[in-house]
Amino acid sequence: MRFSYSNRSKPRGGSWESAPEVLGEPAVTREADVVVIGGGISGLTAAVHCAQLGLSVIVAEKRAESVHRGRYIGIVPKGADKKLFAKRWLRACGSRVNEELLWKYIDRSASALDWLVGLAEGSAEAVPCENIFREKEIGAMPGDHFLRPVGDRYRSEGGALALEILEDALARLGGALCRDVTAMELEKDETGRVVSFFGTASGMPCRFTGRKAVILAAGDCGRDEEMLERLSPLSLKAGKNGSRNTGDGQKMAYRIGAELDGLYWAPYFGCGAFSPYSFYFTSVNRDGRRFMNEDTSETAKARHCMNQRGGDCAFAICDDKWYDELCAGRSVTGGPSTMPEPGLTRGEIEAECGENMFRADTLEELAEMIGVPADALVKTAARVNELAAAGEDADYGKRPALLTTIERAPFFAFRWGPELRCTFGGAVVDADMRVYDPDDEPIPGLYAVGCCAGGLFAVGYPSVLAGSAMGSAVTLALAAAEAVAAK
Ligand SMILES: Cc1cc2nc3c(=O)[nH]c(=O)nc-3n(C[C@H](O)[C@H](O)[C@H](O)COP(=O)(O)OP(=O)(O)OC[C@H]3O[C@@H](n4cnc5c(N)ncnc54)[C@H](O)[C@@H]3O)c2cc1C
Repeated sequence: MRFSYSNRSKPRGGSWESAPEVLGEPAVTREADVVVIGGGISGLTAAVHCAQLGLSVIVAEKRAESVHRGRYIGIVPKGADKKLFAKRWLRACGSRVNEELLWKYIDRSASALDWLVGLAEGSAEAVPCENIFREKEIGAMPGDHFLRPVGDRYRSEGGALALEILEDALARLGGALCRDVTAMELEKDETGRVVSFFGTASGMPCRFTGRKAVILAAGDCGRDEEMLERLSPLSLKAGKNGSRNTGDGQKMAYRIGAELDGLYWAPYFGCGAFSPYSFYFTSVNRDGRRFMNEDTSETAKARHCMNQRGGDCAFAICDDKWYDELCAGRSVTGGPSTMPEPGLTRGEIEAECGENMFRADTLEELAEMIGVPADALVKTAARVNELAAAGEDADYGKRPALLTTIERAPFFAFRWGPELRCTFGGAVVDADMRVYDPDDEPIPGLYAVGCCAGGLFAVGYPSVLAGSAMGSAVTLALAAAEAVAAK
């Protein structure tokens, strides 16, 4: 028997495996061609595109306001080496991804970003983040973009701007965004087609009907500890949790008979639990010991940190030269999420790091401030200085250009730590984002997009292209809308 997870396989003891309490007759009812559950980046993208394709659409959103904290959108640019990209993604994800989904992302993400920017009608632009391109070092490929406003029509930037643009476009196209609406249970008609959801609207029982389709876009399950324990236990190791979603889409999909990703769901870790940056300087654990090459991807650094004693934080250690070294190292290293944006002054970076930056006249004092053994920190600094003098990191293989010394007082420590950003795991889908049951049959009327859909990330955030969570969410949500409209 093959391994799968659905309401026909062995229960995993999750409370979501039983249906929620019946709420009584709906006091609020709404109907459209398409109902989208979740007004985040994937849900709004699907909704706007459905509206462009002539369908009436309602987005049901749990929250009273839009919430977004992602910054970068990763797309595979025209002219990129697509085969190399695919090879690296597959390797990074343990060869366990749905290659049809991957190739749709690869082939269509550049035009998806053009589509998103086009919705802004000249009032936003997508700027490529060149400094993250580190193919030779960590296999990261270019294509990461940052959205920023042009003129004063929009106020935000990054992922928040994407939401602002999408909400604006949805309103222009006549779609409805209904806030304070929580979907709780999907419903089928007598033919077995998913046609509606039952939930609450401002606390009142409600039913929203999607005549052609219901699209699940309720995000990840990072805020549901019980789901993490059973489906993504590694996620619980991060000291900080940046996710806001409780796996509602996956829970509803499970109960309506969808197959969910079978093995453990992939966590996406960043390093921003304390200071926003992890830098490339020598990092030490709570024992004052260096433990990794500090010049790898953010996800890898977070994982290495979690494997240390305590595991909630590490300290990037540097000396009085740190700001000059940071500026010099920028041409070698990259990665907007581990390094401050170009142009930030020393004072601005210090202010951002706040109480997570420590400064002392001696290494012994610094060790005391950050709570690590002084002799170990002094020993680590001596070893790092030795490696820098030799011009080779014989311990962990950091590139010579990034080997710095720790010798000139005052000394500094920046505390950073792993944070969970979201999980990737959900309904098994095809490249039209149709949700499947355990017999490999699509469930009529049901689609899933964004973190609600499984199959693309498998074991972890691959770090082949920064911003690929939002990049793939937009690309594949467009595909879902087209598939719905084609029905
Ligand atoms: C700190 C941080 C930084 C990040 N940085 C990046 C980055 O730079 N680049 C990148 O690509 N990704 C980044 N991410 C990840 C990215 O934000 C997610 O991958 C992306 O938002 C997923 O989109 P989504 O539409 O699936 O989910 P979301 O954007 O989370 O949207 C889901 C929506 O569904 C709503 N919802 C949930 N349950 C229900 C329900 N029952 N009924 C109705 N509505 C519901 C939620 O309120 C939410 O608005 C970051 C995440 C964090 C936390």
